[in-house]
Amino acid sequence: MQNKTQPLYGGIEGGGTKFVCAVGTGPNDIRASANFPTTTPQETMAQAVEFFKQQEVVHGKLSSIGFGCFGPLDPNPDSKTYGYILPTPKPGWTNANVVGMVQSSFDIPIAFDTDVNAAALGEWQWGQGQGLNTFIYLTIGTGVGGGAYVEGKLLHGLLHPEMGHIPLPHDTTKDPFVGACPFHGDCFEGLASGVAIEKRWGQRGGTLPPEHAAWELEAEYIARALASYSYVISPERIIIGGGVGQLPHLLPKIQQRTQQLINGYIKSPAILENIETYITNPGLGNRSGVLGAFALAGQINSK
Ligand code: ZN
Repeated sequence: MQNKTQPLYGGIEGGGTKFVCAVGTGPNDIRASANFPTTTPQETMAQAVEFFKQQEVVHGKLSSIGFGCFGPLDPNPDSKTYGYILPTPKPGWTNANVVGMVQSSFDIPIAFDTDVNAAALGEWQWGQGQGLNTFIYLTIGTGVGGGAYVEGKLLHGLLHPEMGHIPLPHDTTKDPFVGACPFHGDCFEGLASGVAIEKRWGQRGGTLPPEHAAWELEAEYIARALASYSYVISPERIIIGGGVGQLPHLLPKIQQRTQQLINGYIKSPAILENIETYITNPGLGNRSGVLGAFALAGQINSK
């Protein structure tokens, strides 16, 4: 199909440190992209709007915009605070109407969801989620978050899942680190995020060698969480992205430990025999988020 007949999408991957904006139709057709630091909502969203305005001059009118954002946020179109960031420790962003700031400049549909739900949809459309009905996309980087695609659609529920904040067993003799989550201390994110690794060991995860004790502990926490997700959601696959989640030496440790913890209880070959495809890294690599935003845009465009 020629691109002229295909709708052109805008995508925003809103992260805690940077926003990635792109225009295109899919993984093989990203016409332009740009990164902006996450400063204030007014400044960052104005840069996103300006980027799309400029791209429309070059590439023509956008059909819709998909926006996957850090949370917590309100993704319910029927809610009064739809499109808002909810109370967050991130200064200046609490109650920011981020969708409104884009919508006021563009008379086209804007789809809004969590960054991880967007990434899950991107993986479903073009990556490791293709052909699946129920799976999880988890990111482990500066923070920890998970999106879920359940029985053919993204899971929202009350607001959206907060998979990074589940409690985990924490043996304080073995790991005296108190945890880094401002809300819960030693929840999953508090124990296993990139921030937690750096605070616990005094150096960034990327600088710790694969044989460092940090990684066995990290794999233990992640595997505990994955086992819980497997029991609760019964996913056909768990995709792990993010800077920490995609460290090549970490994945086999996570696979092995998750299989051990489940201990044969879930009687599926996916876990018993094929753990290396049950728990996998994203097919789209670091582009799951921004391509997921295209996927969100495509979904709202076809409604
Ligand atoms: Zn927490």
